[in-house]
Amino acid sequence: MDILLIAVGEVEIKVIEMLKYDLNKAFGKQVLVGKGMPRPDYAFNKKRNQYLSTAILKAMMEKKEYAVYEKILGIIDDDLYVPKLNFVFGEAGQRVAIISLTRLRNEFYNLPKDQTLFRKRVLTEGVHELGHTYGLVHCRNPHCVMFFSNSLIDTDVKGPDFCRKCKPR
Ligand code: ZN
Ligand code: ZN
Repeated sequence: MDILLIAVGEVEIKVIEMLKYDLNKAFGKQVLVGKGMPRPDYAFNKKRNQYLSTAILKAMMEKKEYAVYEKILGIIDDDLYVPKLNFVFGEAGQRVAIISLTRLRNEFYNLPKDQTLFRKRVLTEGVHELGHTYGLVHCRNPHCVMFFSNSLIDTDVKGPDFCRKCKPR
């Protein structure tokens, strides 16, 4: 029972299936798709028009049906934040993590759609947040997936691969 993927609110099934396949290759672990969670209204901040990722992680932790899985990765198609930051691409705890798709699409920046790039970004952020759940901290190597992304440029430069130091053994 390795990694469980779940949709938080409405997420295109195509994206989840894509990430399932890519994460399986990246970690060599079994990846399953679980029953999703409803739109997390409890985490919504009206002023910011964003969802508080920490509140969603807490709700994921409390779900009994997820408890048998080693790691749980939530996918949300809404913008996330934590206090003091304008936004986050994702957040991780010890067993649960979440990534947002919103800022991984070119269209968010008024750039032409690029499905290949989008897929790579989703994997990169997924591997990064799961990396945290496996105990990895941020890496100073800008080409390592554990590098902290301040912007989408950082995400594109680092890509989904671990550096030699971070690679889980
Ligand atoms: Zn991080
Ligand atoms: Zn590294």
